[in-house]
Amino acid sequence: MKLALKVDVDTYRGTREGVPRLVELLKREGAGATFLFSLGPDHTGRAIRRAFRPGFMRKVSRTSVLEHYGLRTLLYGTLLPGPDIGVRCAAQMRAVREAGFECGIHTWDHVAWQDRLGSASAEWTRAEMQRAYDRYEEVFGVRARAHGAAGWQLNVHALRNVQRLAFGYSSDTRGAHPFIPTYNAELIACPQVPTTLPTLDELIGRDGLTADSVADHLLDLTAREAPATGHVYTLHAELEGNRLAPAFERLLAGWKAQGYELLSLRDYCDGLELEQLPHHEIVFGEVPGRSGMLALQGPAFLDAAAGAPDYRWSRDRAVITQHAAPPAEPAASPTTSPAT
Ligand SMILES: [Zn+2]
Repeated sequence: MKLALKVDVDTYRGTREGVPRLVELLKREGAGATFLFSLGPDHTGRAIRRAFRPGFMRKVSRTSVLEHYGLRTLLYGTLLPGPDIGVRCAAQMRAVREAGFECGIHTWDHVAWQDRLGSASAEWTRAEMQRAYDRYEEVFGVRARAHGAAGWQLNVHALRNVQRLAFGYSSDTRGAHPFIPTYNAELIACPQVPTTLPTLDELIGRDGLTADSVADHLLDLTAREAPATGHVYTLHAELEGNRLAPAFERLLAGWKAQGYELLSLRDYCDGLELEQLPHHEIVFGEVPGRSGMLALQGPAFLDAAAGAPDYRWSRDRAVITQHAAPPAEPAASPTTSPAT
């Protein structure tokens, strides 16, 4: 069984400090992984605007955002100018590739993407993606083949640009298994590889889960069931590469003991028959432990008439499942990280 590791790198500090730690840890454990970089300015401090949105303050009290991100990071783009990550950390990024890991694009400006994409124009979306694409080529000397949208945020323009920029695959959604996306019946010619498992920051602080117990909870999920195509787990350089490293080490050991092969997204995709993938609509919905609407793998395209599918993320199961009835558990309070 395969388990792909997708590393979202959101911040300057995460790139400088979290990424090298994760590279060492993954090498030691013999695990493959894909690092997706934020290539432009770190404006994490501007996420504080979300304090005025419902849910944000609950998250701040639930997990220590300050402890995970550090004070400087929380001031970037407000009291402190935001460092240009792709300029300042180009050497660290290249070192990841030289260590044998796949690299790709997360975003240009994480906070701008998360806060503006929902209502963004075609021009704004294209410009942000092109900046990241061009900067990636400057840093690595080759074109990017891998993409994973910041905060699982998409709009139709982003999907069209994923196709235009000819990524080999894109991992922008939450779902159950790889698929070819459609959006309002428009085919997007780029395989979509959704994250199938919850993230640590979505779990910690809910239902009594702590940094110490969260790994066991996730291992429980992956022991119980897995899609035939395996799992995709998203980690964060700012979390698993920092204070949550012990939990991540336990996850890696546990997954190996469960027989999972730990891979990059590229190696995971190489094992798929891409032309055989089913077509699924991209829909938007909530994920417990995270605020706002995320891009989700929706019903199979043209199958919607088969019985009003109701796709929900369930923390008690490892994958998005189709519920006949609403889940017994009431929806948890939406929460967020300053950058995710
Ligand atoms: Zn992110």
